Amino acid sequence: MNNSLVLVLNSGSSSLKFALMEAETGNTVLSGLGECFGLDEARVSWKLHGEKSEVNLKPGESHHQQAVDLIVGLIQAEKLSDKVVAIGHRVVHGGECFTKATLIDNDVLEQIDALSDLAPLHNPSHVLGIKAAQNAFPGLPQVAVFDTAFHQSMPKKAYTGAIDSELYSKYGIRRYGFHGTSHYYVSREAARQLGKPVEQCSFISVHLGNGASVCAINNGESVDTSMGFTPLAGLMMGTRSGDLDPGIIEFLLKKGWEPEQVFESLNKKSGFLGVSGLTSDARGIVEAMEQGHEGAKLAYELFSYRVAKYIGSYMIPLDHLDAIIFTGGIGENSLPIRREILKNLRLLGFVEDKKGNEDARFGNAGIIAKSEMLNAVAMVIPTNEELVIAQQAAELAK
Ligand code: ADP
Repeated sequence: MNNSLVLVLNSGSSSLKFALMEAETGNTVLSGLGECFGLDEARVSWKLHGEKSEVNLKPGESHHQQAVDLIVGLIQAEKLSDKVVAIGHRVVHGGECFTKATLIDNDVLEQIDALSDLAPLHNPSHVLGIKAAQNAFPGLPQVAVFDTAFHQSMPKKAYTGAIDSELYSKYGIRRYGFHGTSHYYVSREAARQLGKPVEQCSFISVHLGNGASVCAINNGESVDTSMGFTPLAGLMMGTRSGDLDPGIIEFLLKKGWEPEQVFESLNKKSGFLGVSGLTSDARGIVEAMEQGHEGAKLAYELFSYRVAKYIGSYMIPLDHLDAIIFTGGIGENSLPIRREILKNLRLLGFVEDKKGNEDARFGNAGIIAKSEMLNAVAMVIPTNEELVIAQQAAELAK
């Protein structure tokens, strides 16, 4: 292997996902997951040359640091240290300061920390991961790649809430959008497959995983997206409600619910799980529906209907449409859900390409429907956020 390597780190409050890959090809040498940080069962598992291993972490000392040190040890043991040119960190919230991937220095780290106010569940963990990586790789460039950055091209009318403008000036309340790295990747890949410069392409990108969002992309730029000030907005998700009448919150508070209970219900007990009363997992929903479970059927119909409604409304910001792109665990793999969404899009002229849709079932890219009326296609593109992070980190490290 001659190409330079980038270590991609995605640090959560109790977890750390990592991948060591060639930025040019996406070939992954090492990948793994640290989980249960902060608990006795904290551990790191990884795959190296196709072989799986796992170790438990020691109690007491920082689990983020132990995990990063372990990764350093693995890289050294493989004699790959000299090939690593940068560390790329996934950072959820870049607020309005960060419109693109950024080399991390003390000021940038402080800004990421200050944005914890907007992303209390994510940014503090990213800071831990970045500090651990700085300790472990003092000589290497560290790069932050933000989930919000791609959406900073949204026009004011798309990101402004129809609320007292003081809430924006005082607290920064506006639409930021998330999943930006995924929407960026699939739009570039779709343009490549369609053989057209991305600057001339318009897409509706539909990322359906446990979290889910839709993005309107006009001439290569994000112009609107369904997640908002937080990742709770927009589509129905695995356990999140997505859009709802804000009056419901006031109603529940007046019924004596604590704010935390409302938050817990909307974030963790809604979506597929809440509607079906069964599971947050799309596969489980489809299986239960096929066995006649009424709650699962409703959850499936509601999910597909809401995705289609967003796709319909995202025709508005576009000059034309080249493709609807499906990605994420559900978008890449769930034939029945894609089929149901396409059925809901009949007025836009989409006719399913049955073979294409069936072939795309196992994460293959491909065209799954066409609309003659719009001169557009629907396609599946497996996302690859790690590759974008590796490429952008390698680029900045040059
Ligand atoms: P995350 O947002 O956590 O990254 P993923 O993108 O991995 O989530 O998506 C997880 C979702 O994808 C789950 O609802 C899961 O059921 C669904 N999924 C994964 N594989 C399949 C499959 N083969 N068929 C249907 N759904 C799938």
